[in-house]
Amino acid sequence: MVTSVRGGGHSAAGYGVNDGGLVIDLTRMRAVSVDPIRRTARAEGGALWNEFDNATQVHGLATTGGTVSNTGIGGLTLGGGIGWLSGLYGATVDNLIGARVVTADGEIRTASSTEYVDLFLAIRGGGGNFGVVTEFEYQLHAVGEVLGGLVLHPLAAAKEVLRFYRDVCPTLPDAAEINCGLLTSPDGMPLLGLMVGYNGPIAEGQKVMAPVRAFGRPVADTVTAMSYGQRQVQLDEPNAVHGLQRYWRSAFTEQLSDALIDVMVDGAGRFSSPMSALLMFYLHGAISRVDPAAMAFGVRKPQWDIDVIGQWAEPSESAHHISWLKELWSAMEGHLNGSTYLNHAALDDKPEAVRASFGAKYARLRNIKAKYDPDNLFRMNANIPPGR
Ligand SMILES: Cc1cc2nc3c(=O)[nH]c(=O)nc-3n(C[C@H](O)[C@H](O)[C@H](O)COP(=O)(O)OP(=O)(O)OC[C@H]3O[C@@H](n4cnc5c(N)ncnc54)[C@H](O)[C@@H]3O)c2cc1C
Repeated sequence: MVTSVRGGGHSAAGYGVNDGGLVIDLTRMRAVSVDPIRRTARAEGGALWNEFDNATQVHGLATTGGTVSNTGIGGLTLGGGIGWLSGLYGATVDNLIGARVVTADGEIRTASSTEYVDLFLAIRGGGGNFGVVTEFEYQLHAVGEVLGGLVLHPLAAAKEVLRFYRDVCPTLPDAAEINCGLLTSPDGMPLLGLMVGYNGPIAEGQKVMAPVRAFGRPVADTVTAMSYGQRQVQLDEPNAVHGLQRYWRSAFTEQLSDALIDVMVDGAGRFSSPMSALLMFYLHGAISRVDPAAMAFGVRKPQWDIDVIGQWAEPSESAHHISWLKELWSAMEGHLNGSTYLNHAALDDKPEAVRASFGAKYARLRNIKAKYDPDNLFRMNANIPPGR
């Protein structure tokens, strides 16, 4: 019988559920407890980031979470975890101290840097392949007021702004980030949005971001000081909510070439759904300095995660939107490297992308999979088949 594990239910590929099989639904396991002295938090496997952030921000603490608050901590953590704090504190998995895992044999194992070390390596980036995580323990950091918001430009200026964006990203300090989206405003205007942020003294952030905000002729600028908790909910509405139909593709690149920029901007002029978007996450700083061999998640050099985000409301329109996305992706793919951010992709027709994303670690992960899940019970994910 097919078995899914549902954490927060945000898998763009729909891995958390299945038709006709078994769903291990963690929706009711959402407790979060904080130790403000040790600066750690324990959270059950079905919690969402807004529940985690609410519990930790009471103490002025946070860890790297996603950029949308209603995503589950479960899938996001197990796949790596990219968010506003990645430059300063690394990926979510870089802040994982331990996890309680129910493996396929029904045993409960606590994996950490001292216990079940192989399992701990595998669950930090290997997705839900190795068991059901009922509890995560995270390192927290003091995070209070931050700078955040959007600088919006018309799509007509997007190629020029993207060339500027490409040049400015490598100059950013760890505390700063700029992610970028080609999207459609709620009233139908095609836009480029720079998602600007600074996790440090506001005056310092204003100085770092001044040239970015001054570039070109933006049609809006919402960048302002706010609490980290406020920043976490900024992108939730209207396109990041539960219940939408989704089909995504992702790949990394160290170069935003002119040719890639041209293909992306031309593609953004032809979105099949106004809820769809093209996103660029620039990864730098702490996330890029960890040894790539330390754990399954190995995205460890400054680079962009490029995502085509297909989203729509009507299930009957799925074939149309998926076909649009695949056509755009085939024009972009040649400008990207073969490695994928597995949390951001539907890989139903691209199983080879899983192997390519783990590279030299793939064989080791297959052996760990064979040890803890020899029959591939947990296969509704970016699947790593057991080694033989
Ligand atoms: C709107 C939106 C915004 C996003 N933003 C970001 C972002 O900013 N940064 C980022 O890194 N990613 C982001 N993602 C991607 C996100 O990390 C993945 O979709 C992630 O898998 C979602 O986790 P979930 O628990 O909500 O999903 P689910 O659908 O519940 O699960 C996803 C996968 O993880 C497994 N899983 C979940 N919980 C557990 C558990 N406790 N134990 C074992 N296996 C489990 C499931 O079996 C499934 O294979 C976003 C996704 C969406 C839809």
